[in-house]
Order: sequence, then C-alpha cells, then structure tokens
Amino acid sequence: MADYKFIDSAVIHGGISTDPYTKSVNVPIYQTSTFRQEGIGLNPKWEYARTGNPTRAALEALIAELEAGVAGFAFASGMAAVSTVLSLFKSGDKILISSNVYGGTYRVLDKVFKNFNINFESIDTSDLALIESKITPDVKALYIETPSNPLLDITDLEGVAKLGKKYNLLTIADNTFMSPYLQQPIKFGVDIVIHSATKYLGGHSDLVAGLVVVNSEDLAKKIAFLQNSVGAVLGPFDSFLLIRGIKTLSVRLDRHTDNALKLAKFLKSHSEVSKVYYPGLEDHKGYEINKKQARNGGAMISFELKENHDVNKFFKSLNLISLAESLGGVESLVCHPATMTHAAIPAEVRAKVGITDNLIRLSVGIENFEDLKNDLDVAIKASEK
Ligand SMILES: *Cc1c(COP(=O)(O)O)cnc(C)c1O
Repeated sequence: MADYKFIDSAVIHGGISTDPYTKSVNVPIYQTSTFRQEGIGLNPKWEYARTGNPTRAALEALIAELEAGVAGFAFASGMAAVSTVLSLFKSGDKILISSNVYGGTYRVLDKVFKNFNINFESIDTSDLALIESKITPDVKALYIETPSNPLLDITDLEGVAKLGKKYNLLTIADNTFMSPYLQQPIKFGVDIVIHSATKYLGGHSDLVAGLVVVNSEDLAKKIAFLQNSVGAVLGPFDSFLLIRGIKTLSVRLDRHTDNALKLAKFLKSHSEVSKVYYPGLEDHKGYEINKKQARNGGAMISFELKENHDVNKFFKSLNLISLAESLGGVESLVCHPATMTHAAIPAEVRAKVGITDNLIRLSVGIENFEDLKNDLDVAIKASEK
C-alpha cells in the first residue's frame, strides 16, 4: 500500500488503486457476470458479479478507507443504498429521522417501509434533548443528515452517536452533502454512513450511484448479505467512473467551497434576499457545531428571495446556472425545493419546517466566482414583480 497520511492523497491512492492481476495503474472495468471456478467446494474469491466484482470491490475498498470505516458497499443509486440500509429493520421497529431529510428518503419510508410496519418520526435532530425525549422502546435507529436538505441545519454527530450508544440504537448519517473530504461521521462514533455518490463523489453529473460504509464487522456481514439478497448493485462501468471522479474530490471541493463561502456572503449582503442558509457563515445557528465536525460549510446554499420577487422569473433569468434536480457536480445548479426535490413532502409539513415557495437551493459549482455572482445578481433583479 502506498504511504500517505492525508485524505487528499487517499482519494487517489486509497482502496485497491493498482490492479492486482495486471498491475495496471487503474483497476480495469471487469465487465463480466461470472468467473470460472477450478473445482467445487473451493470457496473462490470471485464467483458471481452480484455478490462481488473486482472493479466494484476497488471502489468499495476506497470509500471504506475515505470514510474511516470497516467495509464499503456500492449500489445502483443513493436510494438503493438507503433502502438496503433500511432493510436492516423489522416490523414494529421505529426510526427517528431528521425533519428535512432528502425527499426520496422520506418517500421510501412513508410509502414503502411503512407498509411493512417499519415506522418513523421526523424531528429536529439539531436538538439532542428532543431526540432523547423521543426515544421509546420501539425506536431502533437515529437517521440524520447534516447539513440537512435544503435548510442546512446542523446535527451534532458526536452527540447523536453518544445517544445511540446510550440507548443501543443504530446511528446512520447520510453524508452526501459533505463527502468524506469535508466530514467523516464514523470518526465521531456514527455506525453507518450513506452516500448518494451521484453528487460530490461522482462530481460530474454523469452517473447515478450509492455507497454505504459501516464501522463494524458485524454490520459489514449484515449489509453484504442484504446487498447480495436485494441485489441493487453498482455495475462495473459506473464503479470505474466513480473511482475516476473520486480522484479529484479534494481539488474540486476546495474550489466548490471557496466559491460557496464567497457567494453566501454576497447573497447575505444582497438587498433583495431575505434569508441565507449556509453553515459556513458565523451567524448560522449550527456554525460552531459544524466547525467542530466538518472542514468547512460545504458548497450548498439555500436562500429566500423577498416577497416582491417571482421565483419562476428568477429561474428563467439565470443563464450560466441551470435549473435542475441534483447537486454536487462541477456545474452550478439551482432548484426549487417546494416543487422539485421536496414535492413528495406534504405541504403542511413543508411549511412547518420552513421550505417556503420563495426558497431557492443552490449547488455551487467550480466555475469562476465573478461569473456566478453576476448570473445570480442579474436574475434576482429581473425577478422583481
Ligand atoms: C440525491 C440524494 C439521495 C438519493 O440518491 P440517488 O443517487 O438520487 O438515488 C439521498 N440522499 C441525499 C442527501 C441526496 O442528495
């Protein structure tokens, strides 16, 4: 194994970074569904590609290392990763989740897992005392996102992990919004980390993938069993693309987050913007906790235009920045949470958590800051009613 100390070297050399068979510098795309066996009862390392594929295995070893976990698992999408983790639970179990989790996670819990009597309650997980007050004997897990989507609330990872240990609950963190370069939840005691690798890890808006990392051999066995049983695995070509994307994670994130801090400050000072949510700004309510557990505030910003603005006009007036679902790619994207990513959440729940109709979520890309600033400024002015 290569000798290095820091994660910006690990993204390039981590996991299995040389093909053990040919010594090619990059692990090839092993485009095969099965492997020749030399006799029966030999328990070969590779037997069938749903169970294991060398390209996928290289990616899985890489993400396990980056997230400081025991084992990693790659899935066909972030939702496949989430659903596989949720398959750990049984009828009668209850999960406490962050109040504005990813819309698809809410949907799969509400419309799929609830049918199997796996229940959930969404609560403000930035309030540790509130979490503790909600722990009843049927609660088996705490499922959090920090920063949360789209309001970027911060949950104390160490605090959640401590509650998990105290009450013998599984703690699960969706780390999509940060990536392991900015935040490593397992280091704070969290049991399972989930990623939509479609976002920062892939980084180029050209693939859909999900990853899971666990902190123990026992969980590794359980997730490996579920991954093989449920079967929503990532194919070898997408595994290769994801390894390729991860190599530039640190350089991309440095630029993403540098742009984001500058844009958050610009929006904050803008006369037509009523609210800015960015955990890298000192007046954000989770600033201190985020600083304790993450490298910086990340590259997602949400902001609200003043009442006298037409959000649709704002979106139509943008030129460089595209209106699109997703985030974490090199190009900047905006979305309208109320009608797009969070449309699956009932209107009254949305209103309660603060996802207003004038709220805009911005995934800051790696373009030139001045170009991004000008595009936003022109569109904000054009959207005045
Ligand atoms: C996108 C996303 C997901 C779902 O991932 P897919 O790859 O789209 O299936 C889950 N969690 C978060 C925080 C996301 O942003």
